[in-house]
Amino acid sequence: MSNQQHDAEELLIKLEEAPPCPRCGGVALLVAQFPHAWRNSRGENVSGRKEVLLCASCDHREPAAAELLALFAVDDQVSPENLRVFGGLVAEWVDSVRHRTVDEEALSDEFEQWRRGEL
Ligand SMILES: [Zn+2]
Repeated sequence: MSNQQHDAEELLIKLEEAPPCPRCGGVALLVAQFPHAWRNSRGENVSGRKEVLLCASCDHREPAAAELLALFAVDDQVSPENLRVFGGLVAEWVDSVRHRTVDEEALSDEFEQWRRGEL
């Protein structure tokens, strides 16, 4: 019986053209985009997508990121053989980032949009 998470299906991974890490300016290994919903200052539900970067220098202390980084250290590219493992690790990592950032970043995102007049 398949009961895949809807969220996981909407996860987008980009391995190429990852922008530089905003925290250290280094090279990011991948970018993941995931659906992100929050409530704006008028109490309306807003949904969008959120991007997170995986950076070897900044993220190695996160357990979920460390496992993913370890995979990159061994296989420097995604192959059909490691795709399954890779997909599982990415999903776990994004999950951990999502839980961490929803509280921290929802506020600053909202402020950014408000400042730009989008809310
Ligand atoms: Zn970094």
